[in-house]
Amino acid sequence: MIIRTMYKVKEIFKSIQGEGFHSGKTAVFIRFSGCNLWNGIEKFRKRAMCNFCDTDFVGVDGQNGGEYKLEDLIKKTLEIWGKNKSYHEKFIVLTGGEPLLQVDTQLIKELKKKNFYIALETNGTIKTKLKFDWVVVSPKENASWNLKNGDELKVVYPQNKINLKKALDLKFKYFFLQPMANEFKQLNIIKTLNYCRSHKPWFPSFQIHKSLGTS
Ligand code: SF4
Repeated sequence: MIIRTMYKVKEIFKSIQGEGFHSGKTAVFIRFSGCNLWNGIEKFRKRAMCNFCDTDFVGVDGQNGGEYKLEDLIKKTLEIWGKNKSYHEKFIVLTGGEPLLQVDTQLIKELKKKNFYIALETNGTIKTKLKFDWVVVSPKENASWNLKNGDELKVVYPQNKINLKKALDLKFKYFFLQPMANEFKQLNIIKTLNYCRSHKPWFPSFQIHKSLGTS
């Protein structure tokens, strides 16, 4: 078992989940620094295994970013969640970058002790035995796809090398297609809607947090 001494975190913030099954739900997001499919430096994007990333995961200089010891990360997360008791449960989304490069048993254990419902958003390249409450896998067509089960499969669309028909045989509860946010975004939205219309159970997922102007 790997125990981390420090976690490199790009940012921690409270917002609404804007994508997929939990859309609209309030959550604290921990965005871990670093990804195994791109170093985040623009001039290397074209050569990267994943080249349509729309997230800044480089360094620790975002809102509440830093290098955290476990106890400080938990403290900061609770502080950001705040004391509002009106929510049924505390919801946390571990995202990145690729969170599985850093998330470990200790972090999960401590978050559970504080009654967080823990969601993971991963690119699916790293298999894990860690127990989360909700797992979202978003595979990338040029990278190896190793984590093939979870709660949500979220495919950024189009990625022609991902076989969407075969993917329906995998053990996921929900299947989402999300339009790729590149220079063809409008066209990608239309393609996504058209595909979902005729290929159930694929369902469109939009990044509503962006329309709302939140993170
Ligand atoms: S895998 Fe995710 S975080 Fe990494 S470069 Fe691709 S979209 Fe960005």
